[in-house]
Amino acid sequence: MNYTLITGASSGIGMELAKIFYKQGHSLILVARNESRLNALKAQLNSQEHQKIHCIPMDLSIPGASKRLYETLLQNNFHVETLVNNAGYGSFGRFDSISLDLHQNMLQLNMLALTELTHYLLVPMLEQKKGCVLNIASTAAFQGIPFFSVYAATKAYVLHLSEALHEEYHALGIRVSAVCPGATATEFAQRANMQNNRLFQSAFTASSEEVAKLCYRVCNSDRPIVIHGLGNRLLTWLSRWIPRKLGVRMAGKMVSMPLK
Ligand code: NAP
Repeated sequence: MNYTLITGASSGIGMELAKIFYKQGHSLILVARNESRLNALKAQLNSQEHQKIHCIPMDLSIPGASKRLYETLLQNNFHVETLVNNAGYGSFGRFDSISLDLHQNMLQLNMLALTELTHYLLVPMLEQKKGCVLNIASTAAFQGIPFFSVYAATKAYVLHLSEALHEEYHALGIRVSAVCPGATATEFAQRANMQNNRLFQSAFTASSEEVAKLCYRVCNSDRPIVIHGLGNRLLTWLSRWIPRKLGVRMAGKMVSMPLK
């Protein structure tokens, strides 16, 4: 049976993606740390006879976790046709005020786990000459962002990796894309310590449903990079025409805007 594997499916964009893929007839493998949330989602989706849902609780920020996940897939004979690398988080604050452990954990999850899973799962996709890898990047990927420095750098990595892999594999039947959401109403802001930031007030945020809908459409297209929302597309386009130093300064001001 062919599966869609979604990392970070226990909340936010990943949870909405699971709902959409399931509605479209996909069997699912759902991965995140919170097992009870994954099971609740599985129960809510009400598994059909011909569609399966498997929950694999796992902390992907632990070195070696992606390999263990891959081995579990092999043992169970699960073939992943669509991989959605969605699990990720950010941390707001001056670089030295965030512990090195936290920076390393973020690098491990946002970049290494994504790279490892893609590397493991591309091989069987290539054998079948069919597959899709959807990486959730961010509008933060387009410039350095003061006070959000490591997160923005991890997403720049995701963006560049995705566009390069898109070019390497699209003639071989594998679609690799990056979706770049802007501020989205999920648990992301709370974990990033940005809940009091104006960027995450409702007037500026997208819903996780609309971002997930776009992700699903991208999976069925052949586009290397897709930015969610007209405002975000305009801002990233503008950032190419202003001096780089000014763009970085403006981005730093935007993520530092407190509530009035
Ligand atoms: P979210 O609601 O916090 O969801 C993050 C998901 O990742 C959760 O399911 C979480 O589940 C999982 N996760 C976190 N740490 C994990 C770990 N160590 N191992 C396995 N799973 C882990 O945030 P979201 O906004 O939906 O984030 C999804 C993606 O969108 C992230 O890559 C984020 O960087 C990106 N993004 C978000 C925004 C935004 O404004 N929200 C904007 C641009 C890009 P558990 O806690 O159960 O592990």
